[in-house]
Amino acid sequence: MYKCMAVNAGSSSLKYKLFEMPEEQVICSGIVDRIGHDDGIFKIKFNGKSHESVLPITDHAQGVQLVLDAIKEYGIVKDLNEISCVGHRIVQGGKYFSKSALFDKDTEAKITKLIPLDPLHAPAHLVGFHAFKKALPNAISIAVFDTAFHQTMKPEDYLYPIPYEMSEEYDCRRYGAHGTSHNYLAAKAIKDYLGGKPNTKIISCHIGSGASLCAVYDGKCVATSMGLTPLGGVMMGTRSGDLDPSVVDYLCDRSGKNVDEIYEILNKKSGLLGVSGVSNDTRDIEAAIKKGDKRAIMAGDLFVRRIADFVGQYYVRLGGADMIVFSAGIGENSSFFRARILAAIAPALGITYDLAKNEELNHKEGIISKPDSKILVAIIPTDEEVMIARDCYKALKGTL
Ligand code: AMP
Repeated sequence: MYKCMAVNAGSSSLKYKLFEMPEEQVICSGIVDRIGHDDGIFKIKFNGKSHESVLPITDHAQGVQLVLDAIKEYGIVKDLNEISCVGHRIVQGGKYFSKSALFDKDTEAKITKLIPLDPLHAPAHLVGFHAFKKALPNAISIAVFDTAFHQTMKPEDYLYPIPYEMSEEYDCRRYGAHGTSHNYLAAKAIKDYLGGKPNTKIISCHIGSGASLCAVYDGKCVATSMGLTPLGGVMMGTRSGDLDPSVVDYLCDRSGKNVDEIYEILNKKSGLLGVSGVSNDTRDIEAAIKKGDKRAIMAGDLFVRRIADFVGQYYVRLGGADMIVFSAGIGENSSFFRARILAAIAPALGITYDLAKNEELNHKEGIISKPDSKILVAIIPTDEEVMIARDCYKALKGTL
């Protein structure tokens, strides 16, 4: 039996779960949320108890310290050395990683080299890695890459229509992200909802503060919305998603800002936050929409439109769909936005859905389509952490 810590450090949150492996039993779990906000949230759950505090959380390093201090303080483990392995979710593995790897100097150097491809997450991953490494020097560390699941895409799905020599020489192509989540969701959808059948067609919608959609055929990724970096695809909390590439040059020219400054804006000040001027958080956007705030209404409409358009694209790409899955922070918790996305896609795709079920299943797993719907629609809470813990266990057994 091994204790394995799965760490999922996102742009504004750090989720963690401590597992007893191979039993996949969760010893404790929680989230450090709204990192960078004065009203940051720290949550820990263990033995059926839960503790929550609201406090200013400046950065990820402080988040890691909160987690380890709580694990010690609540006596969840007698000694932090009982934790044998820490598995870190890494968004971008570029050309280097098609599966999980030991987080050694070489892996760290490659992830550092890949920062230009993921300026938003990679630094947070490395901060998380170092903070855990310092606190738990005897545990082994592994890196689990979100790009690995998308390696099955065909060139027509991952290439950009730029000179092929440039794609090759600079590794400039679509890599996608959230692969660990899409992999989990597709596998669970097939097993628990589609009777384990082969050749199933699933559109998986991981909609959190970062968001991506994935078209999955027979359990394998055929297309995904994020691109070279997690800036591409649908509109997100603070990220723009897809744009005409000329926008960057045009904005530099008109605003006098340089390319780096414009990318900072596209990564951190765009999306729901940029359009609404209210917040990157759908809870705040929903409240502002209900008060009639015009920019929040526009942000919400744009957010829904971009997601609906990708669902349509993937419906065509797959030649239909057996199932649409909603997951992640917004997909699991926001009945308001789920209902609006469903309203946008249902007439064209022959979906019928139950609004009461949609409300009732907030934060829970289950089906929200009606029995006569042409496509099964379900909410499945994602579990990237168990996928990470499974790879931790493999690493401890020497079978990674
Ligand atoms: P994630 O990146 O998957 O952790 O998602 C975080 C985002 O999910 C937040 O920024 C919110 O926009 C959204 N979210 C989280 N909890 C709720 C909730 N209870 N109701 C509505 N939206 C939520």
